[in-house]
Amino acid sequence: MRYSKAFGKSLRQSPKEAQAQSHKLLTKAGFIDQLSAGVYTFLPLGWRVHQKIAGIIREEMNALGAQEFQMPVIQPKALWKETGRWETIDPPLFVTTDRHEKEYALGPTHEEVITDLARRFVKSYKDLPFSAYQIQDKFRNELRATGGLLRTREFFMKDLYSFHAEKADFEDFFKKVVAAYTKIFDRVGLKTLVSQASGGTIGGDVTYEFQVPSPVGEDLVFFCKKCGFAINKEIVAEKNIKDTCPECKSKLEQTNAIEAGQVFSLGTKYSEAMGANFVDKDGKEKPLIMGCYGIGVGRMMATIVEVFNDEKGIVWPTSVAPFQVHLLAVSSQQSVNSQAEEIYNKLIKKGVEILFDDRDESPGVKLADADLLGVPERWLISEKTLRQQAVEVKKRNEESSKLSKISDLV
Ligand SMILES: [Zn+2]
Repeated sequence: MRYSKAFGKSLRQSPKEAQAQSHKLLTKAGFIDQLSAGVYTFLPLGWRVHQKIAGIIREEMNALGAQEFQMPVIQPKALWKETGRWETIDPPLFVTTDRHEKEYALGPTHEEVITDLARRFVKSYKDLPFSAYQIQDKFRNELRATGGLLRTREFFMKDLYSFHAEKADFEDFFKKVVAAYTKIFDRVGLKTLVSQASGGTIGGDVTYEFQVPSPVGEDLVFFCKKCGFAINKEIVAEKNIKDTCPECKSKLEQTNAIEAGQVFSLGTKYSEAMGANFVDKDGKEKPLIMGCYGIGVGRMMATIVEVFNDEKGIVWPTSVAPFQVHLLAVSSQQSVNSQAEEIYNKLIKKGVEILFDDRDESPGVKLADADLLGVPERWLISEKTLRQQAVEVKKRNEESSKLSKISDLV
């Protein structure tokens, strides 16, 4: 992509109200734009990152054997009345009314819709187990939506649901999802604590949150450095835990953390409320055993920026970077600019993800923008490098640079 043509460029300043580093940097770098409180546009550069994260999640969900599908955003009130969550879910629903005065919720989550599907499609133990997921726009009527993409009112979430005939089969799958989540966070460079948590108005008996330690995190997590045990502060009293790890008796430490994913054991909470049953091997009708598992894509993007930034800007991990190479020509000489054009055209043909800063801007502006945007590798061509038929290659996460022959690079 030619940066001169990019829709949504870097700004000189971050938004005044922004506190979280990810909010400041993503806005300043031209990745996102706020429409209203907690509601954001992903500009083309930001959407590339969003799509990369969604792609990694999709690969790991497919590897689990889950099937991708897409449920509607608009959900009838009648379904939510069946589970009693129309009035009780927290945060409350975004409600809308059609021209026949019929009420709907804009889906914050899809347990009701998937359970309704399951009760109509699943008849026997032979239809089980199955798991399905979607990556879809969700709506949460948050009281406060500050912190940029860390807490929004509209966001893309990957939500996975699984259905089982037996508890043991569910538990086995649950462990596989925890392993898949760990792999997803590894692939985007995030280290997580798998923390016991409260299920809130979604969960059943067992809930874990994938918590990324960060000073801007809204959650407080107690964790054990020795064995990896972790628990959210909100439930330590109920579990009777003070400052000692229940697993290995080491002293627990505390950290603020960003909740970047959640897995819930739902048991038969929804299937019993909605009459989603199947006929088992013994001929008896039983309620389906369920699990649900979520990751917010935009929040993950913000979390990555919270962890990977410095005083100059974002430092994207290669796996989610919008481009792999940021090419700059810093000279007014025609020979330098035409050499840059030639390299750009060759790399585009080879399918390399390259951002070419072809603007008529000063070297200082181009270099500052390259650091702000955070593409993993910067290729700089100047009169000096061209005299050696070379490009100065610098990794965003390293201080030093080296000269590489143009012939070797392309
Ligand atoms: Zn421990």
